[in-house]
Amino acid sequence: MSNDNRVSERVRTEATTEAIVTIPDGLYETIRRHGERTYPHECCGVLLGASSEDGNTVEDAVEAGNTRTDSAHNRYSIAPQELIQIQRQGRERGLDIVGFYHSHPDHPAQWSKTDFEEAHWIGCSYVITSVEQGTAQITNSFLLSGTSEEDKRFEDQRVVVGRAGLNASDTALSGTRNAALSGVPDDVRC
Ligand SMILES: [Zn+2]
Repeated sequence: MSNDNRVSERVRTEATTEAIVTIPDGLYETIRRHGERTYPHECCGVLLGASSEDGNTVEDAVEAGNTRTDSAHNRYSIAPQELIQIQRQGRERGLDIVGFYHSHPDHPAQWSKTDFEEAHWIGCSYVITSVEQGTAQITNSFLLSGTSEEDKRFEDQRVVVGRAGLNASDTALSGTRNAALSGVPDDVRC
């Protein structure tokens, strides 16, 4: 194989790799309704499913309690014990944790500096729904990419509502790119 062939193969592979999270329409609605129900506070939950080269496929969404009492309207967290229990119950069903979701009451569906600092699950989808005046608006997803805390970054991820690319009715709209941040805390939050 010539040098030129190897280069073109590499470029082709990168070009066809697209970050996608597939969410069945029923679960998509569940996630959005959760954000409306907890408004004006944030909701949060865990996404169980499977990861593959084609992206993350969500099979279940598990509501989690928002354990923050200091500022529940704009902060969220999942207690480690709760997360471990959700993870164990998922594995019993053959499902992995593939993401997390939370809502942004009266704020855009864009990740915040805090969201980024508290995101530690490389390869997971971080789904954010904006809830304006109690009504769910835009749902975006951001893939936590990289290999470690040092080079992690959020990438815009296309949200496909429905199975296996069918009914692709919602596309994440987001212009925010990764920000290079330092001083990531060690505490474990979703
Ligand atoms: Zn957030």
